[in-house]
Amino acid sequence: MIIGVPKEIKEQENRVGAVPAMVHDLVTAGHRVLVQAGAGSGAGILDDQFAQAGAEIVADAAAVYGAAELVVKVKEPLPQEYPLLRPGQMLFTYFHFAASRGLTEAMCASGVHCFAYETLTVAGHLPLLTPMSEVAGRMSVQIGAFFLEAHKGGRGILLGGVPGVEPARVLVLGGGHVGANAARIAAGLGADVLVMDVDLQRLRWLSDIMPANVRTLASSPYALREQLPSADLVIGAVLVSGARAPMLIRREDLKLMRDDGPVIVDVAIDQGGCVETSRPTTHAEPTFVVDGVVHYCVANMPGAVPRTATFALTNATGPYVRLLADLGMAAAAAHPVLRTAANVLAGQVTHAAVAEAFGLEF
Ligand code: NAD
Repeated sequence: MIIGVPKEIKEQENRVGAVPAMVHDLVTAGHRVLVQAGAGSGAGILDDQFAQAGAEIVADAAAVYGAAELVVKVKEPLPQEYPLLRPGQMLFTYFHFAASRGLTEAMCASGVHCFAYETLTVAGHLPLLTPMSEVAGRMSVQIGAFFLEAHKGGRGILLGGVPGVEPARVLVLGGGHVGANAARIAAGLGADVLVMDVDLQRLRWLSDIMPANVRTLASSPYALREQLPSADLVIGAVLVSGARAPMLIRREDLKLMRDDGPVIVDVAIDQGGCVETSRPTTHAEPTFVVDGVVHYCVANMPGAVPRTATFALTNATGPYVRLLADLGMAAAAAHPVLRTAANVLAGQVTHAAVAEAFGLEF
């Protein structure tokens, strides 16, 4: 099969859908891989490195889409890319269809087969979302530490403290993938960490595996209000699958917090945020202040570390790219795991949640 890897054109998107190791695996298995010149530059991967792994470097996106039977990307196609798509072509990328009727209609009209990273399910888990949660969770602590510095508007606190001076108190709301990664990094820096979750099983597991400076607490509105006054850094990491993030911190609750620059990193902002005063921000202008509390609400945090994020993503997507390429369209659509990623096939929405989002018959 011919697999194509175009350069991402979405603003501030520097990740790429393949790395040399993936190319090498596909080429060794007898496939051809076309990589658009410069596709990896934002992630620090040179054309030469792709070529050494066996890729053919082509000049532009038209050359990739024109020949590829399977296109491997990171973000959904943008309108400039729609005319390049060919009926019967397979597309494997993040789509988030439910968020865009326009994209869904365009993909149905184009006749491409859309396999979405975000819905691919293995034993009830979403393995192609996990790596970005790991990245965002780990980043949330270094971001929080940075904005706690006085010249960034923070309280002027070092997360780990020093001998004779107390460490910062880090409150992690939600102990899932983001929360567990945040807790581990915050603990490693020496902070005093409290993870709150409604899932007691999850808290039991966290308390087994986390270091001693991570404590757990069953989450309730009452318990959270008790914790807010002493928090230096709050990390919002809750998720109710398929739903808007639960609103855990109301505007009036901010008054319970210190007013001299504690920091909230609302990682859940991509699902609406778990703080009433959160609104999406960008890497260019990541923070704003409400009631003396610094809010960081960047919806695509991994975009700031495209090299790590590219390798994290492709470690997870690689086996499924290989499977799509080996099986081909007909067998892929019937494969139990790949079928969970199929969102639009031959002009039809084939995923229940996407159909439901637009009130379509399914
Ligand atoms: P996850 O499902 O692994 O974990 C979510 C946790 O929240 C679960 O343990 C769940 O029990 C807990 N939870 C649910 N309701 C709660 C409540 N009311 N109180 C306390 N805990 C509650 O999800 P995840 O992979 O960790 O992702 C968390 C959020 O981060 C998601 O919204 C995800 O989309 C987002 N995210 C954002 C970025 C970004 O760049 N901003 C990147 C990756 C992930």
